[in-house]
Amino acid sequence: MPAPSSSGTSPVTSETCTGTVVRSTGSWYDVQVDDRLIPCKVPGRFRLTETGTTNPVIVGDRVTLRVLEDETGLITEIHERTNKLSRRAAGRRVGLEHVIAVNVDAAWVVQSIRQPKLNPGFIDRFLVMAEMNGLPAGLVFNKVDLLRPGDREAVHYWRDLYAQQGYPVLMTSALTGAGVSDVEACLKDKTSVIVGPSGTGKSSLLNALVPGLGLKTGVVSRKTLKGRHTTTVATLLPLPFGGFVVDTPGLREFGIIDLEPAMLSHYFVDFRPYLNDCHYPNCTHDHEPDCVVRDAVEAGYISEERYYSYLNILSSLHLGDKDVGR
Ligand code: GDP
Ligand code: ZN
Repeated sequence: MPAPSSSGTSPVTSETCTGTVVRSTGSWYDVQVDDRLIPCKVPGRFRLTETGTTNPVIVGDRVTLRVLEDETGLITEIHERTNKLSRRAAGRRVGLEHVIAVNVDAAWVVQSIRQPKLNPGFIDRFLVMAEMNGLPAGLVFNKVDLLRPGDREAVHYWRDLYAQQGYPVLMTSALTGAGVSDVEACLKDKTSVIVGPSGTGKSSLLNALVPGLGLKTGVVSRKTLKGRHTTTVATLLPLPFGGFVVDTPGLREFGIIDLEPAMLSHYFVDFRPYLNDCHYPNCTHDHEPDCVVRDAVEAGYISEERYYSYLNILSSLHLGDKDVGR
């Protein structure tokens, strides 16, 4: 690639190196190259939305860069990603893909038992996204200290439902510290993304895991939260016990992208054993006759809650998934 010649840009040195993007503001990227942190820009051609994405370079990306004389860098190449997690962009950039994390080992969804209460619809959307991207997924049920005797049965029902499908379910309290060591064991030496609605305790859990981190906590109004989306920086947060957490506000809500309605059931792991037996090979398990998935729901092999959740997501896909991933 030819050296940039615009005025104000420092001349290129002969040094080319490879590193990992650990912080992104949308215009500047901090790239970790061994023990050096190099602030980098990307050439205009990467910023084009022709690729259908809102953001060309993501925290977690492995990149090649040219070092300039003023010790900043110019990203010249984005290496192939092992995976990515995306959502549909909102607002004026609707229709574009917003990549929220790349090159991650696992994805976790945080839900609170109360304040706000468990949202299985959110969990199921998240699991579809994780399955679509081939990412191992897990669940954290936080605020167990708020569990009342009357909630116990319902919470255990959801815990067992997801655990039976092979997803680890951790029960935690960022307030009392209960279960936090289980989270630590699961995140250790991996790069993880943590998704969840606002107020469920993601920041509090990270503060409990990383002494001195001091992330701000407290429920933020949706309006303020939206305002923050445009300005907040995404980072790859190093964990003191090894590993990283992707910290980006884009993980608080998402709509599913690029999914054919007939494919949705493949990402419901509990539906998989039945998918080949429906009368129609492209059955959406909604209205078609001789549907084995519906039979399995009626017989109690698939939970009704999961089936309703499936129908909800299916109808949102038909509608173009208009911002329903909340
Ligand atoms: P985030 O929006 O997901 O990052 O959630 P925060 O970490 O900001 O937490 C939202 C609110 O829930 C704050 O007032 C926290 O103090 C509170 N909170 C977080 N974790 C717990 C918990 O385990 N138990 C209780 N009782 N409150 C919690
Ligand atoms: Zn069917």
